[in-house]
Amino acid sequence: MDRLRATELEQRAIEEEVRQGVLTTTLAKAVNWARKQSVWPVTFGLACCAIELMATGAGHHDLARWGMEIFRASPRQADLMIVAGRVSQKMAPVLRTVYDQMPEPKWVISMGVCASTGGMFNNYGVVQGVDTIVPVDIYVPGCPPRPEMLMYGILRLHEKISKRGTLT
Ligand code: SF4
Repeated sequence: MDRLRATELEQRAIEEEVRQGVLTTTLAKAVNWARKQSVWPVTFGLACCAIELMATGAGHHDLARWGMEIFRASPRQADLMIVAGRVSQKMAPVLRTVYDQMPEPKWVISMGVCASTGGMFNNYGVVQGVDTIVPVDIYVPGCPPRPEMLMYGILRLHEKISKRGTLT
């Protein structure tokens, strides 16, 4: 009888230990958490907004805190395109080609009023919104948006990635 009681107590102790030391989650949540912590932007800048983009990556603002400091030279190694600046009609097919070369899953941030709507360049030479060329996930307003605004957009993108229901 004593032996039975001892086994029972031992089992309870083990159960308690497991409860304290084991985290349960879903595979999708774990994968999405890892993805949002290591989004790699493609090296891509179009106009004055790109200066603010570069400032965001520099030491003062430090994109490295989110694992984003490595701007990839090849779109095949990138999963984020930050469209920084106005998109000329001549550049539009190039932008689309770069986007197409990025592997899935991938995201796009439209940075600044010019990329999002054409801004003050309401003419035939500038694309009136980059979402007519590629799907946009986050729009960052401003002319130019400061690094803090871009970082806010990046954090909103992280939220969006976390909420993905699938692994694709
Ligand atoms: S939004 Fe302003 S800073 Fe950005 S590309 Fe247009 S004019 Fe330049």
